[in-house]
Amino acid sequence: IARSTTMRTFSKSTKLDNVLYDVRGPVVDEAARMEDEGERILKLNIGNPAPFGFRTPDEVIKDMRQQLPDCEGYSNSRGLFSARKAIMQYSQIKGLPNVQMEHIYTGNGVSELIQLSMNALLDNGDEILIPSPDYPLWTACATLAGGHPVHYLCDEQADWYPDLEDMESKITSATKALVIINPNNPTGSVYPREVLEGIVEIARRHQLMIFADEIYDRLCMDGYEHVSIASLAPDLPCVTFSGLSKSHMIAGYRIGWMVLSGNQRCMSDFIMGINMLSNMRLCSNVPAQSIVQTALGGHQSVNDYIRPGGRVYEQRNFVYEALNKIDGISVVKPRAAFYIFPKMDVKKFNITDDEQFALDLLHEKKILITRGGGFNWAEPDHFRIVYLPRMEVLKESLEDLADFFDHYRQS
Ligand code: PLP
Repeated sequence: IARSTTMRTFSKSTKLDNVLYDVRGPVVDEAARMEDEGERILKLNIGNPAPFGFRTPDEVIKDMRQQLPDCEGYSNSRGLFSARKAIMQYSQIKGLPNVQMEHIYTGNGVSELIQLSMNALLDNGDEILIPSPDYPLWTACATLAGGHPVHYLCDEQADWYPDLEDMESKITSATKALVIINPNNPTGSVYPREVLEGIVEIARRHQLMIFADEIYDRLCMDGYEHVSIASLAPDLPCVTFSGLSKSHMIAGYRIGWMVLSGNQRCMSDFIMGINMLSNMRLCSNVPAQSIVQTALGGHQSVNDYIRPGGRVYEQRNFVYEALNKIDGISVVKPRAAFYIFPKMDVKKFNITDDEQFALDLLHEKKILITRGGGFNWAEPDHFRIVYLPRMEVLKESLEDLADFFDHYRQS
C-alpha cells in the first residue's frame, strides 16, 4: 500500500463555527502567556469562589468524607434519592408547582444540564430567546445543538431588567422557548415579581417553554427576595436550574440540578429526550450528589458573606463606589451574585473594539477582566468584573483601573 508522506490535518467540527465562549477566550490565553513569563496578573475574570479564600462549610466536607466509601458506583442516572428528595423539598419551598421526583435531574454542574436540555429541545433552526447580556454558555449550547439563539435586551436604565417589549418583538413562528438568568450573570440584577409575571404572560401568549437559570438564587443582597419564575407559571412547561457551585463555594465538586415543573403533559416528548440524554451520560458525580441534602438543609453559611459586614457584600460596595468615581464609567449596583457590569463612555475613550480594550488593560495594568462582547452584548461599551478577590487585590485593581482610564486613548 502506498503511503502518503504528509499526515492529513484534523479540523474542528463545523458545528463549532458559530459557537462563542469567550469567558475563557483569547484575552485569558494572553494572560496565561504573560503569567508563564513571570508577570503577576490581577484576575477579576472568573466566578470561582474557592481560590479567593471562600470556604466550603465544614459540615459539607465532613459529610462527603463520611459518605465517600458508599459512592463508588454509578447512581440512578437522574441522581441519588437523597439528593433529589432534598431538591424536591427546596423546590416546594420556592413554590414550584407540580414537581415529581422523576422530573428532578442532578448534573455535573448546571453547565452539563444546560447543554443536555438544549440538545433535547432544539432542532436545526429552532429559535430560543436568550438575554443580552447573558451567561454565554446558554448561547453556546443552543448554537451547538443546532438552534438559533435570538437575543432580547436587558435594560440598563431599568436596573438591567429584561425589556419585555423587545422580548416579545423577537418572537417568531420558530421560537420554542425563552431563557431567563435570574439573578443575572453578568449584571447582578434580581428581577421583581411584576417583571417575572410579564415574562410569564409573554410565554403564555406565545406558548413557549421557560428555562430559568437560578444558580445565584441564594446570593441576593439588600433584602432583595428571589422569586422563582416557575412558581408563577403552573400552566406552562418550566425548567429551573440551580446548584451548589456558588452558594456553597464548591464549583470544583460539580453538582447542579434541573427541575421540570408546571405543565408536564405538554412536554412529555421533551422529557423522553431528557431521559435518553441523561441515561447516556450515566449519572453525575456521585460523591458531590451525596452532600446535597446536608448543603440545602440547616444553616446557609453563604448568608454570612452577603449581609452587611460580610465579604461579598462589602466587596460589592467597595467596587461599585470605586467604579462610579471614575470619570467616563457608570454602573448599576448589583443586587446578587458577585459580578458587576460597568459601562464605558466609548466616545471619551475612543473604544470601538472591546477585545482590544481588554488586551490594552491587560498589557498596561496586568488586570484581567472579561469584555462585554463575551456575554453576547453587541456594543463594545461594557466589561465584567468579578469582585471575589480579596479586598487588598480589589483596592489595588481599582486604583490601577482609575489610573488607566485617566489617560486611555484620550487626545
Ligand atoms: N449559570 C450561570 C448563570 C453561571 O454564572 C454559571 C457559572 O458561572 C453556571 C450556570 C455554571 O455553573 P456550574 O458550576 O453549576 O456548572
